[in-house]
Formats: sequence, structure tokens, C-alpha cells
Amino acid sequence: MQSRSAIVIGAGIVGLATARALALRGFSVKVFERSERAVGASIRNFGMVWPIGQPQGKMYERAARTRDIWKELSPKANFWSEQAGSLHLAYHPDEWLVLQELYECFHKEGRPVQLLDKQAVIGVSASAVPDGLLGGLYSRDEWIVDPREAIAALPGWLSEHLKVEFYWGKCVSYISDQVVYIGNEEEYEADLVFICNGADFETLYPENFSQLPVTKCKLQMMRLVSQPDNWRIGPALCGGLSLTHYGSFKAAASLPQLKQRYAEEMAAYLEWGIHVMVSQNGKGELTVGDSHEYGLTHDPFDRDFVNKMILDYLRKFARFKDWTVAESWNGIYTKLTDGEADLFFSPEPYVYVINGVGGAGMTLSFGLAEELVAGL
Ligand SMILES: Cc1cc2nc3c(=O)[nH]c(=O)nc-3n(C[C@H](O)[C@H](O)[C@H](O)COP(=O)(O)OP(=O)(O)OC[C@H]3O[C@@H](n4cnc5c(N)ncnc54)[C@H](O)[C@@H]3O)c2cc1C
Repeated sequence: MQSRSAIVIGAGIVGLATARALALRGFSVKVFERSERAVGASIRNFGMVWPIGQPQGKMYERAARTRDIWKELSPKANFWSEQAGSLHLAYHPDEWLVLQELYECFHKEGRPVQLLDKQAVIGVSASAVPDGLLGGLYSRDEWIVDPREAIAALPGWLSEHLKVEFYWGKCVSYISDQVVYIGNEEEYEADLVFICNGADFETLYPENFSQLPVTKCKLQMMRLVSQPDNWRIGPALCGGLSLTHYGSFKAAASLPQLKQRYAEEMAAYLEWGIHVMVSQNGKGELTVGDSHEYGLTHDPFDRDFVNKMILDYLRKFARFKDWTVAESWNGIYTKLTDGEADLFFSPEPYVYVINGVGGAGMTLSFGLAEELVAGL
């Protein structure tokens, strides 16, 4: 019997995860990517696979499943990954209270968390600033991948082991009746078509997208040089501002009071959507960010003062051996404005859009794709 066929548009993490899920269910899969290699949001992130940010239930399960798939694929597809864990630090009593409340809640939910006092934090983290430190919430759940390596390595593995065919430098310009058109010259047909075009959502079915609660988020990021002597920072580090960022942290009863203080004392940070995190890759480089600006059109320029604010805040809770900034960039992802965690719809029969994973695509995509493909 001939296998069913599928076309996936976009070779970012959502497209790669969708191609994997389809191929494992017996589809013969072609992936079309408009660039010669993926250079969108999926290579511009921290590489944080971050279950701690997801609320208990379906989303946490999806993140845990995604993390397990990253863990399985890393040695197979030969890209670096590490169970670094995460460490959220408190330097103010209200941050410490939130961490204690989160510990109670996450511990009851069975998550692998520990509440650490100052000495214990210093024991697990070579880079946490000890001055003024009250304690930290450590979690073993989180993994780090190097997104540049991983997104470059996965297509080769998918081709070799799951017979997924990749077509690079092919921009899909139109789809109709299960036929995918690359300009006027090439057309390809499949039983099912999946559009995973990330923030480029104006080109295919723009009439659908214009009716949807979607916008775009621009984030500024930096890369600090490889740390000398193979020095490792330990767990990925986050300061107090990150407590206002992730859905799962709403479980802390005193979070509103913390937010109120930040609004009074750190208004400029809130205005630019800055919260500060750092991850370390296999080469020892540090990935630092980020800011959040929302809107359908963003100017392409990085704001130096935003990067300075990020680094100023980072210095309050992290110390490194070398602070030289080697690179800065920005990334843009699709953001849903209705609070939903993903966008899945069918603009015409047998054609599906998967988008809207926002700031958690590395954390959720493998699990999401498996769920969606299983449900078809
Ligand atoms: C700065 C930053 C930091 C982040 N940090 C994290 C993090 O640490 N952890 C986490 O979980 N998430 C993080 N995210 C979110 C995560 O990166 C995104 O959710 C995810 O990369 C989105 O993947 P995607 O495949 O939808 O988009 P993309 O990676 O942008 O891929 C879409 C692809 O579709 C292609 N395409 C578009 N239109 C066409 C067409 N017509 N024909 C062919 N190809 C087309 C594009 O060229 C592109 O390669 C971060 C995002 C940013 C920007």
C-alpha cells in the first residue's frame, strides 16, 4: 500500500517537529524552506527547553514530552544538549516569598524542585552573585540545546532516518487543492499540507491571519564569548523579573505585590518587556536576553540602551569570567493576543496551519506536533 504524503512549509522547530511526527506515523514527508537554511526564531533563541515555565496539566506534559524528545535526539542527531536545570534567584524579600510559594506548589505537583538557601545556591551555581542573595529555586527539569547546532543538525537526521526530503531555498507562494506552488515554475501535491511559517504569516492565507488575534514580538539578545578554562555557569540563571514572565508562576499568591513593586521601581524594564536570563552552550558561550516589543511591524534596528539595561540587570545576579559581548541580534516570533498557547486551524480542506507557540517553541513543539498529528 502506498503511504500517505505530506508537505510541511518551514524548517524552523515547528516544521521540523511536524515533519518528525508525520514521518513516524508513516507519511512520506517533504519540507519546503524558503531560505537556504532555517534562520528564523528557531536559531535565535536561548535553546532553553523550559518545563518550569508551563502550567501544570496539559502544557507541562507537553513540555516534558518535548524535553524527552530533545534528549533522545541529541545523541542520535549529534548535537550538544545538557540537563543544566534552572535557577531563579531572589535578592529581595518579595522575590524570595514568591520562590517559596512556587516551591510549595511545584513540589506538591511532583516537579523536581528544591528551595536553596544562599550557601546551597553558591554550591550549585558558580555564577550566582552572593551579595544580597536570599536564596533560589532550583529545578532539574530544564535542558539546554544550542539552537544553531540543533536546528542545523535535525534535517540531516530526519532525512537519513525518517526519509524526510528537504527542499531548501524554495518559497511557497500559493496553495490550492492540496497543490503547493513555488512561484509559477514548480508545483507539488500531497494528501496533507502543513504551514509552519512562523512570523511570516502574511504570505499564505493572509485573509485568515488578518482575522486572527495575532501579532509579532521582537526580542533583543546577546552572545558573550566562550568562558575561559572551560568554566561552566551551572544551571541556567534567571533574575526576579522572570517571575513576572511565565504562566506557571501565576501560581504564587504574592506575585501581584512583586509586580506592583517592579511597576513602581523598574518601570523602564517593564516598558521594554525586559526580563533577564542566561544559558550556556556546549562551546562555553553565554546567551543572554531579552526584551519584548509587540506589533505587526518592527524596525530592524537593535536598541543599544535595551542591551545595556539587560546587562546592567544581569550584573546584579550573575558573575562571569569574561563579559565580552561577541554578538547581538533580534528575533521575532508570532504572539497570540488571546492568551492561547498555539494556533491550529485548517484554512481549506487538507491544509493545516501550526503557529503561535510564541516564546516557548523550543519547549513545546515536539509534543504539540505529536498531539496534532495523532488527532488528524
Ligand atoms: C530571541 C528569542 C528567544 C527565545 N527563547 C526561547 C527559548 O529559550 N525557549 C523556547 O522554548 N522558545 C524560545 N523562543 C521561541 C522559539 O524560538 C519560537 O517559538 C520558535 O522558534 C518558533 O518556531 P517556528 O518554526 O514557528 O518559526 P521559525 O523558526 O521562524 O521558522 C519558520 C520558518 O518558515 C520559513 N518560511 C516562512 N514562510 C515560508 C514560505 N512561504 N515558504 C517556505 N518557507 C517559509 C521561514 O524561512 C522560517 O525558516 C525564543 C524566541 C526568540 C525570538
